[in-house]
Amino acid sequence: MEDLFKKITAHCKEYGFIYPSSEIYDGLSAVYDYGPNGINLKNNLREYWWKSMVQMRRNIVGIDAAIFMHPRTWKASGHVDAFNDPLVDNRDSRKRYRADQLVEDFISKLEAKVEKEVEKARARFGESFDEILYRQTNPRVLETQQKIDATAQRLTKSLAQNDMAALGQLLTDCEIADPESGSRNWTEVRQFNLMFHTQLGNIAGEEGKLYLRPETAQGIFVNFLNVAKTSRQKIPFGIAQIGKAFRNEIVARQFIFRMREFEQMEMQFFVRPGEEMEWYDYWKSKRMSWHQALGTDPRKLRFHDHENLAHYANAAVDIQFDFPFGFRELEGIHSRTDFDLKNHQELSGKRLQYFDPESNENYVPYVVETSIGCDRMFLAMLSQGYCEEAVPDAEGEASSRVVLKLHPRLAPVQCAVLPLLKNKPELVERAQRIFDDLKLAFHCQFDDKDAIGRRYRRQDAIGTPYCITVDFDTLAEGTATIRDRDSLEQVHIPEQGLCRWIEDKISWRPLLEKADA
Ligand code: ATP
Repeated sequence: MEDLFKKITAHCKEYGFIYPSSEIYDGLSAVYDYGPNGINLKNNLREYWWKSMVQMRRNIVGIDAAIFMHPRTWKASGHVDAFNDPLVDNRDSRKRYRADQLVEDFISKLEAKVEKEVEKARARFGESFDEILYRQTNPRVLETQQKIDATAQRLTKSLAQNDMAALGQLLTDCEIADPESGSRNWTEVRQFNLMFHTQLGNIAGEEGKLYLRPETAQGIFVNFLNVAKTSRQKIPFGIAQIGKAFRNEIVARQFIFRMREFEQMEMQFFVRPGEEMEWYDYWKSKRMSWHQALGTDPRKLRFHDHENLAHYANAAVDIQFDFPFGFRELEGIHSRTDFDLKNHQELSGKRLQYFDPESNENYVPYVVETSIGCDRMFLAMLSQGYCEEAVPDAEGEASSRVVLKLHPRLAPVQCAVLPLLKNKPELVERAQRIFDDLKLAFHCQFDDKDAIGRRYRRQDAIGTPYCITVDFDTLAEGTATIRDRDSLEQVHIPEQGLCRWIEDKISWRPLLEKADA
């Protein structure tokens, strides 16, 4: 799977999806730029999210808040005091790690060991294998499982109590070594604040200290009353936003999975106190449908409840995706209580209450949020779509292909127009005419270089769902051939019907219907 991850990373660069930032200066760690195909795919992901959140719902509206906010925002939100990760350095390798992640990796290895034992036993006992009984009685499995549980418990406790010494002791007791050098020569574990900061031009000192927002949510909280008043929304209602967030991540070695500058798509849903768990379940289910509507293999998505609740939450769950490096968080759904609004109310001295005309009372609403990283979603789509396969009935170079099986609605280029031969001006001209018509409706590419097989490969590699070949039948009968990226089937469609045919295939409608199921 590591191999697959490397291939995806290389593919992203080669086909203009993602480049390392400022690459001519050897890049900047965990910062990336999106290329011509990348930006199209990213825009489509944003659009899918925005349409299903805002366009589809009468009780959700959008905003676009500034990245810079008054510095007291971050005091109220708890980020100045509590947005920390436990940092540990290895004295020999001079590498820096998150201590909690080192312990989690250690636990994952033990879990893999258990699974291996179980699989071995399954192979040995065949049909008669009773997995539950085996897990409950096999001494080796029991011993490892006990170790897993005890380690996880100590990790949870030390994080909950903010006890960095206990976390350091856990590294020692588990004999955890630097994964790169094998050394166990660790410094003490200490908290590291993840916020980047800068200075406002005309104010010196602490007063002028500005933070780059580590989440988009606070822009929504501070605008809660503005939006409620101006959009005439009544609780329950939501505010949605897509925007950049910044975190000075300690370990950021997983391509766009963990970046220092990334993009979030967040929606804060304001509800009556006491109704938050109902809405929490509602949004859990809606968000899973959103992912599944894209045709994502259901085995690649799962819920994962948080054991360590963030400082603001009373319930939290992740939607995890099976990335090439295992199941990891793709999206978070959090019940944030009235923590943020209450603290902003206290620190700003402004009432952030809602008058509920139904119950005739004022209250600070509770909040359920859904928060997904656009970049992680991008990586999930590439991981699931990347495919190397044999092409039936083809020979030589054409006998295999790399194809990105993206949902057609998300593909960076929706159709390509390919004149069969470059040296036949009448074909090129006709293809150009078709292209000029289709570009009014779609992201469309015109390509007349190289043999047709090569051009198909290029389009497969960027996930173009439909290639339109303009050949002699087009000149004689006015039909063009559409080749389907996945099935490789070809259909002949009258030239005037091409736009309609593609429009039907890539319409938002069925996707949005499914997402809302
Ligand atoms: P993690 O545990 O992976 O650090 P988190 O729980 O801190 O993530 P949240 O604060 O819940 O993440 O942020 C919401 C979403 O933003 C995440 O589900 C993820 O998709 C995205 N996200 C968070 N941090 C990053 C990052 N450094 N790079 C890219 N996306 C991120």
